[in-house]
Amino acid sequence: MAADPTEDPLSGAALDTLAVRAGQVRGPEGEHSEALFLTSSYVFANAAEAAARFSGEVEGNVYSRYTNPSVRTFEQRIAALEGADQAVATASGMAAILSTCMALLRAGDHLVCSRSVFGTTTVLLNKFLAKFGVATTFVELTDIDAWREAIEPNTRLLLLETPSNPLCEIGDLAALADLARSRGVLLAVDNCFCTPALQRPLDWGADIVIHSATKYLDGQGRCLGGVVLGRAELMAEVLGFIRSAGPSLSPFNAWVFTKGLETLRLRMEAHSAAAQALAEWLAEHPAVERVFYAGLPGHPGHELARRQQRAFGGVLSFRVRGGREQAWQVIDATRILSLTANLGDAKTTIVHPATTTHGRLGDAEKARAGITENLIRVAVGLEALDDIRGDLARGLDAL
Ligand SMILES: *Cc1c(COP(=O)(O)O)cnc(C)c1O
Repeated sequence: MAADPTEDPLSGAALDTLAVRAGQVRGPEGEHSEALFLTSSYVFANAAEAAARFSGEVEGNVYSRYTNPSVRTFEQRIAALEGADQAVATASGMAAILSTCMALLRAGDHLVCSRSVFGTTTVLLNKFLAKFGVATTFVELTDIDAWREAIEPNTRLLLLETPSNPLCEIGDLAALADLARSRGVLLAVDNCFCTPALQRPLDWGADIVIHSATKYLDGQGRCLGGVVLGRAELMAEVLGFIRSAGPSLSPFNAWVFTKGLETLRLRMEAHSAAAQALAEWLAEHPAVERVFYAGLPGHPGHELARRQQRAFGGVLSFRVRGGREQAWQVIDATRILSLTANLGDAKTTIVHPATTTHGRLGDAEKARAGITENLIRVAVGLEALDDIRGDLARGLDAL
């Protein structure tokens, strides 16, 4: 039987196929790899076409602040992977969070946010959104009663990350989506740590997914970018904000992310397998007090993570026996690992959260968040596991 030419050949395709092919539009050159459209604006055939494009009567590119073919390819490909109607790309992960809030909230609105989100997200909400009359209540990610009690009549949005950074706590997406739906509020999930290769929050009932594409979507630490995904009517609001405010994704960065998506699942599986092996090894090491990784059966979120994730991801943390001095000794003894706060890279990174990523927190807040002086976070890259283990063993064996 002849194929129906009107049917999308990718409809029903598996994630691996979508990751490599979704969103590609071939030009007249027949290029095999996706072309890069490094242009700020577009020309029109005549004045009438210019008028029709500007008014939106005829679809087409006008200006790269709001439409660009390379950005659109990335948006369509990540939307296919997350199972979203639509995606809107942004200049960074923070721009994605800001654009979501600016598009969907107004003065007098309230949001509830997990206490264990990316530190800059907390600053954005407390310092900047608060200035415009949007208040935030912070709750424990894993305490569903706390989420329920924090919802006020003016609450519009619940915001969280799962797994959390750096302790890998797991939020119950289905339960939080039920709660959001029953109270008429939106659930937004920052899916940066898992990516759609490991977890698809929309499948569990979330309304919005947010990414820092800077991390695993790129996967090699080259470009900043972000993306917001969800239903078309919500994304139209987000795109409207980007169009007017300008935190748009560069076409070059979009092209890098598009190519990054092609290897996303393979990388996430490799990161996860190496992190699992490293967590198991650390848990047995006499100089290690405790390991935080949802792939370990003793972790409180293990069963939940098994249910809602395909694998446990590449980030883990552990407490050494001792305090800051011992933690710093282990970090300073490494010769291969990169001492940097970044993650989601082919290169393994190591950091001391209490004095870097979480250094802004007061002592009481650190204690409540479990950010102790002896805690080390590792974002496992793609080097040989023996070399990563050997690099950590040098400091740990000397303690
Ligand atoms: C890095 C990060 C962000 C911010 O992304 P940028 O691209 O650096 O702006 C937001 N959320 C999480 C979970 C992150 O790790």
